[in-house]
Amino acid sequence: MININNAVQFQHLIWDRSMKKAKVVVDATCGNGHDLLYLAKRAQKGCHLFGIDIQMKAINSSKELLKTNDIAPDVSLTFIHDSHDLALAHQLKDEVIDLMIFNLGYLPGSNHKVITKPHQTIDAIDKGLHKLSKSGVITIVAYPGTSEGKEEMQSLTSYLSDLEQKLYNVCHWHPMNQINNPPELFILQKR
Ligand code: SAM
Repeated sequence: MININNAVQFQHLIWDRSMKKAKVVVDATCGNGHDLLYLAKRAQKGCHLFGIDIQMKAINSSKELLKTNDIAPDVSLTFIHDSHDLALAHQLKDEVIDLMIFNLGYLPGSNHKVITKPHQTIDAIDKGLHKLSKSGVITIVAYPGTSEGKEEMQSLTSYLSDLEQKLYNVCHWHPMNQINNPPELFILQKR
């Protein structure tokens, strides 16, 4: 049973459904690879997963985690060491994306100054939205418990609130009776 108060777990409900058909999946902040591993384990034959991170340390950590777990041989995995906004503009420019995920903030146990930045996050989401397949999904976990995270979530909320209703479903999920500003989840779907 998932913990419905936990944004990281709650998004699995959405991912599980998307992964039944997804051909192209992008983890825009692959970090230590936990989310990517979850997705890779549910990938169907022929699915191509991309893991992006701005830090080589994170890419190596993700590679190691996925190497030590059994991923089906007919699932492809590509790592991109770059900022997600740039990766979407260049390495992924021709891809049609079925599922893209963001887990914002910093790499746990690492330098907290290397952190997602509102303008890059929004630029990457904007580029990702234009690459989504029909009914394709973007999930974003945001961390309002720090001042940087709160600022990023405010920018994000403002950007997402203005997305064209005819083109995208845009939802915001958050725990209502929890202290200490727990993580919140945004779910976007191309109509
Ligand atoms: N999804 C990861 C996991 O399952 O382990 C956790 C991600 S961690 C909370 C956030 C990651 O975003 C960090 O590894 C950090 O290096 C990365 N990051 C920060 N800014 C970035 C950017 N502009 N482009 C890509 N990755 C970025």
